[in-house]
Amino acid sequence: MSPIRLAIVGLGKIARDQHIPAIAQTEGISLAAVASRNAAQPGIAHYATLDALLASGEPIDAVALCTPPQVRRAQAQMALEAGKHVLLEKPPGATVSELAPLVAAAQASGKTLFATWHSRFAPAVEPARAFLAEHAPRSVTIEWKEDVRVWHPGQEWIWEAGGLGVFDPAINALSILTRILPRPVFVTGAHLAFPANRDAPVAAEVDLADADGLPIRAELDFLQTGPQTWDIHVETDGGRLTLASGGAKLFHDDAPLIDGNEAEYAGIYRHFVHLIQQGASDVDLAPLALVADAFLIGRRSLVEPFEY
Ligand code: NAP
Repeated sequence: MSPIRLAIVGLGKIARDQHIPAIAQTEGISLAAVASRNAAQPGIAHYATLDALLASGEPIDAVALCTPPQVRRAQAQMALEAGKHVLLEKPPGATVSELAPLVAAAQASGKTLFATWHSRFAPAVEPARAFLAEHAPRSVTIEWKEDVRVWHPGQEWIWEAGGLGVFDPAINALSILTRILPRPVFVTGAHLAFPANRDAPVAAEVDLADADGLPIRAELDFLQTGPQTWDIHVETDGGRLTLASGGAKLFHDDAPLIDGNEAEYAGIYRHFVHLIQQGASDVDLAPLALVADAFLIGRRSLVEPFEY
């Protein structure tokens, strides 16, 4: 079978850091074009916009939408209607409700829609899920604290409505949480701190539970300098499980079980190729629904203005 001809839309930080190297490593898919207003990739067909790419007749089979979430729905609909498979960066949209029409469009066109959660491909995640299928969780603590100035330099969209602020990284923790726990979880309370000059939160505390009352606490901060923290601690009836460094490492009672190489995006592209070959889609909105619920139920406070 000839490789899937993929176009990247939005050649920004994540497309350069992760998508291009992962596509190059993955059998069955190759980079055929880029649609980006201000960036191009040497040796690859370039168009300023997705509209221009689709109108050109350039032969592509699929698009990877690496643009900010606020503009992705319209791009995904356009691509599906043009008969292309669609890979969505996380979060899958700026709202929860915009996904149902995309799922319907994918079904109608017989194409694949893949809402990616890159952190679910981290090496500690599936072993943690297997452990928690055998050992009942008693409590969960999430600490997701990073420096936005280091990881998202100059990205204004992250502070605009729909950009999620601190939930842009924290939704990765929720994507892991919803994969490893044996039962669905829901938000019971939240406190969101908004910079006085921004439309998205810079810090938050979120409380969640499952139907059995499992207490889950998430502490999120976008202004952490020094060591960065992307950890999930789960107390269980079989000891303490810690997923550290965003799921790259797994500890049981502080003893290391896994210290894996980062290969999340290679996993994403292998799964995308598989989904296309199977004629299937993969859209799980649970992490986005938790964020939406934190915004719905959360108390708000205004804090100091934020500037890069
Ligand atoms: P980014 O560096 O800002 O890149 C996004 C690109 O999309 C921009 O370079 C821009 O390219 C294009 N774009 C921006 N605004 C647009 C608009 N209004 N209409 C059309 N195109 C627009 O952002 P990023 O960090 O790569 O993040 C993109 C997505 O990936 C986000 O959803 C983010 O959550 C996710 N992600 C990011 C990371 C990370 O570490 N950065 C990690 C995992 C996932 P042109 O100006 O050339 O069109």
